[in-house]
Amino acid sequence: MEPAVELEGARLGYGPGTFELCVPHLRVAVGERAALIGPSGCGKSTLLHAVAGVVAPAAGAVRVLGQDQGTAGGAARRRLRLERIGLVFQRLELIEYLTVLDNLLLPLRLASGRAPGPAHVERARTLSQRLGLTPLLDARPQRLSGGERQRTALARALVPAPELVLADEPTGSLDPDNAERALQLLLDDSAERGSTLLVVTHDPGQLGAFDVVHDLGQPSGESVA
Ligand code: ADP
Repeated sequence: MEPAVELEGARLGYGPGTFELCVPHLRVAVGERAALIGPSGCGKSTLLHAVAGVVAPAAGAVRVLGQDQGTAGGAARRRLRLERIGLVFQRLELIEYLTVLDNLLLPLRLASGRAPGPAHVERARTLSQRLGLTPLLDARPQRLSGGERQRTALARALVPAPELVLADEPTGSLDPDNAERALQLLLDDSAERGSTLLVVTHDPGQLGAFDVVHDLGQPSGESVA
């Protein structure tokens, strides 16, 4: 089966004279739960942005869920991102005038152009419960703590049941108990649905929970587990 994510000879960056990351080869199989590690500034977020199609590769191949992000136009990359990928980026981008529940349902609204149905609302509530967000569903993001905002962003990524989840330090602002709970939810949800997970983490204690660890700090970006 074709991998969910495959980079080959990829050069990723922000234009001439700026940072550039070279990824000779990186592959994440369908249903695999992969961690991405490496020193700060080595390009982990850049790689997630390229996989998500926020930026196109300068060279090489970035294939995601069957789409070549290098040749796809901006509209096709956006559609793939909206319809099939769940994102937890470092900038959480919660919408301040919507309640937490409406923030959780927003990606579905954007992808379908319709109000989410009862099954989606039910899934949003179930995920919220697993993350301890139930008492906050009617609150506006401005009164949430940093950790509560991060858990909201995590739930929002999972609500549409995406085939691929990309998460950039999704537990970085959480206390150890909540971090454990959030990581377990990401892993369980992937296992239950057969979806693929690519997670940037700085927490060495989390690495054993993943199927594979890719170290961008290694010369070839090779896997270390
Ligand atoms: P990591 O996630 O491993 O800490 P990043 O991918 O965030 O690393 O950053 C890698 C490099 O890319 C850094 O030098 C950073 O300054 C640079 N960078 C990140 N975003 C941009 C941008 N939008 N424009 C130009 N350079 C950027």
